[in-house]
Amino acid sequence: MARLAQTAGLTDIQEEILATVRTFVDKEIIPHAQTLEHGDTYPADIVDGMKEMGLFGLTIPEEFGGLGESLLTYALVVEQIARGWMSVSGVINTHFIVAHMLKQHGTPEQKQKYLPRMAAGEVRGSFSMSEPELGSDVAAIRTKAVKGSNGYTINGQKMWLTNGGTSNLTAVLVRTDEGAEKPHQNLTTFLVEKPEGYGEVLPGLTIPGKIDKMGYKGVDTTEMVFDGFEIAEEQILGGQSGQGFRHMMDGVEVGRVNVAARACGIAIRAFELAIEYSQQRKTFGKTIAEHQAIAFKLAEMATKVEAAHLMMVNAARLKDSGQRNDVEAGMAKLLASEYCAEVTQEAFRIHGGYGYSKEYEIERLMREAPFLLIGEGTSEIQKTIISRGLLRDYQSRG
Ligand SMILES: Cc1cc2nc3c(=O)[nH]c(=O)nc-3n(C[C@H](O)[C@H](O)[C@H](O)COP(=O)(O)OP(=O)(O)OC[C@H]3O[C@@H](n4cnc5c(N)ncnc54)[C@H](O)[C@@H]3O)c2cc1C
Repeated sequence: MARLAQTAGLTDIQEEILATVRTFVDKEIIPHAQTLEHGDTYPADIVDGMKEMGLFGLTIPEEFGGLGESLLTYALVVEQIARGWMSVSGVINTHFIVAHMLKQHGTPEQKQKYLPRMAAGEVRGSFSMSEPELGSDVAAIRTKAVKGSNGYTINGQKMWLTNGGTSNLTAVLVRTDEGAEKPHQNLTTFLVEKPEGYGEVLPGLTIPGKIDKMGYKGVDTTEMVFDGFEIAEEQILGGQSGQGFRHMMDGVEVGRVNVAARACGIAIRAFELAIEYSQQRKTFGKTIAEHQAIAFKLAEMATKVEAAHLMMVNAARLKDSGQRNDVEAGMAKLLASEYCAEVTQEAFRIHGGYGYSKEYEIERLMREAPFLLIGEGTSEIQKTIISRGLLRDYQSRG
């Protein structure tokens, strides 16, 4: 992409990382994405390639064997990867969130235990808040951990774990009895180590098979069932119970920038496909790009790609500067995911009947885009976060 979605002020290292990833995406991801997606095949070779490039440790501090890069670098990498195939960005997203939570909130022992192996891609992270009966309303979590003489026992059911089968460390948010008045103060994040795979992977812990999804294939999404699962107190993230909601919200805040970045990547790809196709396809004696109706669609699509990219970069830079970015990340996620759905839809229309054929990439993008309206909080939840933040900052003096 020569012109759109450029980012001013990057360091030489950031430019180098992005150039390497862009080449990897063009050579190793785009040519295989359709086949892997339609076969619902886990992209094992691509994941190995990402391990070799050090992408699993991109944001993990150098002292723990990572590259110590910023959220912005990570988001720009994700944008490129999603331009190739969203499922691949899904493989590293939950890993990145768990690494972030450990880096920010883990005890020194937890950091030492997990971060070096996470940087190497040996330990692979997933996170679990959602349950069959709740997603947006996180504080209503029912899965419960009860303290006994030998640690905690967990019972309950989790839903929608991305990488639930292919990860071996899951950060799980559960209810603990803290006696706090507010429901969210009674939640605790446990670091659950488990083998990869499906079935009863540990006594009292079952990962049923993969959920069959409309898109976002290849990457596994699962349930997680706890039935008298025992876990030591040392596995509480940060060592102190009752802090889980805060920890997870911090993780989700960086996750939102990442979802915005994915939306940007898909929108960029949809635009690339549309502008190429519109210069090849002829109707009524000229290319369809020469019809003003199509040219204007391209102009609107490119404007949306650009606006979404700039908001995503702004949200990432704010977080990197050490400031809270709840409102900006919410805005970036809201705008980028809604624009992504619109840009993808327009690219689909530009393809005419061929857009409906599984031979064309746009068919896959059309199934990917809707997930971004839901993951890491729906558009309605983003609007709730944004408006709450605005009302906090613009309090009436009347
Ligand atoms: C493919 C996939 C992967 C996922 N991966 C993960 C994961 O790795 N880990 C994880 O924990 N979760 C994951 N999720 C779950 C995801 O975060 C939830 O689906 C999402 O938060 C929405 O929750 P819900 O599905 O329960 O919808 P609900 O919360 O039931 O919402 C239903 C509808 O009501 C609206 N709504 C809800 N509350 C309000 C309100 N207060 N005001 C206005 N409208 C409202 C919503 O916007 C939505 O339109 C994944 C989901 C999918 C589909």
